[in-house]
Amino acid sequence: MIKNLFLYNSLIGEKVKFEPIASNNVGIYVCGPTVYSEVHLGNCRTFISFDVIVRYLKFLGYNVRYVRNITDAGHLENDADFGEDKISKKAKIEQLEPMEIVQKYTLDFHNVMSLFNTLPPSIEPTATGHIIEQIEMIKSIIKNGYAYEVNGSVYFDVKKYINDGYQYGKLSGRDIDELISGSRDLQGQQEKKNPSDFALWKNASKQHIMKWPSPWGTGFPGWHLECSAMGAKYLGDQIDIHGGGMDLKFPHHECEIAQGVSANNVDPVKYWMHANMLTLNGKRMSKSTGNTLLPEEIFSGENEILKKAFSPLVVRFFMLQAHYRSVLDFSSVALSASEKGFNKLMEAKKVLSNVKFVQKNINTELDSQIVNLIEACYKHMNDDFNTPQTIATLFELVSIVNTCNNANSFGEISKETFIYLQKTMNGFILDVLGLDNLDSQSNDKSAQLVELMLSIRNEAKNNKNYALSDQIRNQLNEIGITIKDGKEGTTYSIT
Ligand SMILES: [Zn+2]
Repeated sequence: MIKNLFLYNSLIGEKVKFEPIASNNVGIYVCGPTVYSEVHLGNCRTFISFDVIVRYLKFLGYNVRYVRNITDAGHLENDADFGEDKISKKAKIEQLEPMEIVQKYTLDFHNVMSLFNTLPPSIEPTATGHIIEQIEMIKSIIKNGYAYEVNGSVYFDVKKYINDGYQYGKLSGRDIDELISGSRDLQGQQEKKNPSDFALWKNASKQHIMKWPSPWGTGFPGWHLECSAMGAKYLGDQIDIHGGGMDLKFPHHECEIAQGVSANNVDPVKYWMHANMLTLNGKRMSKSTGNTLLPEEIFSGENEILKKAFSPLVVRFFMLQAHYRSVLDFSSVALSASEKGFNKLMEAKKVLSNVKFVQKNINTELDSQIVNLIEACYKHMNDDFNTPQTIATLFELVSIVNTCNNANSFGEISKETFIYLQKTMNGFILDVLGLDNLDSQSNDKSAQLVELMLSIRNEAKNNKNYALSDQIRNQLNEIGITIKDGKEGTTYSIT
């Protein structure tokens, strides 16, 4: 397949043709979660966005190595160089070992990711499992003259980096002068040469639980450093794609660039990609402000802003109806609309899988219309992974399928186009968008069970066993299945 993928590189603010460093092999690194609490829906959107990106790269035939880390140490409060370690703090509150916190929330994260039908990464490295690599990288940065040690901590020398002609701030668009002259004399910042310098290694106090020996004394690595060290270890000094949430551009990703350049003398990333945020009531979803929604609250419907429960795949579909670089606002009304669309798409996929091809006179206009729509699906995904446009095109195909389906047969197009249509619908719905219809499979089973109960009830009625038929009706009613007896037989609805 000829690949003609364009993606938006956040570093230059432009859509560019994607050309991997090593022919058909693609390395992608996505910043994973800091596992100190349940993953909220805003984070899930980022991981679902990159899941579709990875899926489409694979669909195009690339060999993809997808690395997504677990931050289990070194991430301090407010993403700053000072304050308590987020995981240690939670461990104290929950009266658990820090590693129990890590285990608990890593499992939660994996569980949520699998409910959303995201593919597991090829490698999921942890910060605590790569202390040696991080120490080695710090040594290289010190050797090259871009870091200095003070009281057992090591800081990156931003001013030296800029004076040598490198652009610190090029990804986030931050003003360099402002960063350098920042006069904020925050507590604990005094040992830095400059407030914009950031920690590569922090000296640990006696009370600090998660710490390791190093050439500079006992301490722990800086949060920004772990991604640089693990990315380089598994994907090389230069990575094809590095992704994460928009909020990670500064300081996290800006620091990663500086670390990579100063340690390995090469720009560590060819294409930077950032997923936009999910808002709730028009405000950013964030743990720190409390404006959050947990995935399980949506799956159970247990949150006051929801009118009902929604399945994980409906939520996934809702997210993919917006482009990954657009802000998406969450609401119960929008989710309900997505649910209808999702069901319609699944129904059409089912019809198309079951429909028989019976060759009739070929309607050449219809045939070429279908081929054009199929090609448009690729065109939209090749245009910076435009999922909303792809979904809109799939819906145009759905309406053609529904119009042309005549008593479960379809034949006004060539057999070749019919096979192409089936392959495209399945490929895009299942492999690219990841809308595996697990829900409807279990719904099918439930429907069969209800039909079975109704036939037993019918038999009871025929035998004038009204006590049993009423019992079946009442008990189904209790679990939310309402039965209606009409002229044309018995129907039911599930609430
Ligand atoms: Zn990271």
